[in-house]
Order: sequence, then C-alpha cells, then structure tokens
Amino acid sequence: MSRHSIEFRREDSEGVETSHKLPAKWVICGTCDGDGTTVFGWGRGDAAVHTQEDFDEDPDLMDDLMSGRLDKACPDCEKGRQLVVNEDLLKANNLELYKLWMKAEKDEREYQAMCRSERMNGA
Ligand SMILES: [Zn+2]
Repeated sequence: MSRHSIEFRREDSEGVETSHKLPAKWVICGTCDGDGTTVFGWGRGDAAVHTQEDFDEDPDLMDDLMSGRLDKACPDCEKGRQLVVNEDLLKANNLELYKLWMKAEKDEREYQAMCRSERMNGA
C-alpha cells in the first residue's frame, strides 16, 4: 500500500513559509458519493431545489437531471475521491499541525462558499 501525504504550507508569525506533510488517505467523497460529478457541479449544501414550475417550464429538465447531462465536476473531490488526513497515523508531533491544517481548510471552504453565493447572487 502506498503512503500518501498532504503537503501543507503555512507562514509563521514572521512571514516565513514552511512546508509540512501530514499522513493522508483516500476516501470516497461524501458530496458526490464517489461519482466525481454533481448536478451543475454544486456542493452538497448548494443542491438546487426544483419546483413544479421549473419542470413545467422546461419539460426536459427531469430528463436532463436523471441522465446526468447537467452534471459537472464535483467541487470537493478528484474523480470521486478525496485525499484526507489519516488521523490514525497522526503522531503527537503533527497533531498541532493537523489543527492548523483543519483551520486552513475551514477558511478555504468558507471562502469558496462565499464565492459561490456571490456568483449565485450575480455579483
Ligand atoms: Zn465529490
């Protein structure tokens, strides 16, 4: 079994960039359930809710949805898989780093969600 790692860069308080590695593993993406695509490429939280009106206006909509014609690459993974930190392999010396990485990931996610909602609002 090959060993994977996530490379993580951070700047310390003096602005010096350092690179670290965390043990990682591949998991099936929870956003697209491993399909690698989602409708319109939206994340799980962004899933569109179609109303009867939408279907009335566009008779092909249901067909398009079911056939995957509207599917785009999933925003959260690479071909249905996600490289995540392998918590089983974390050691005391990279636990602190892991916390920093989690924070960086969370910030990135919030930033992406903000960009998406701005796009939807036509900004
Ligand atoms: Zn995915």
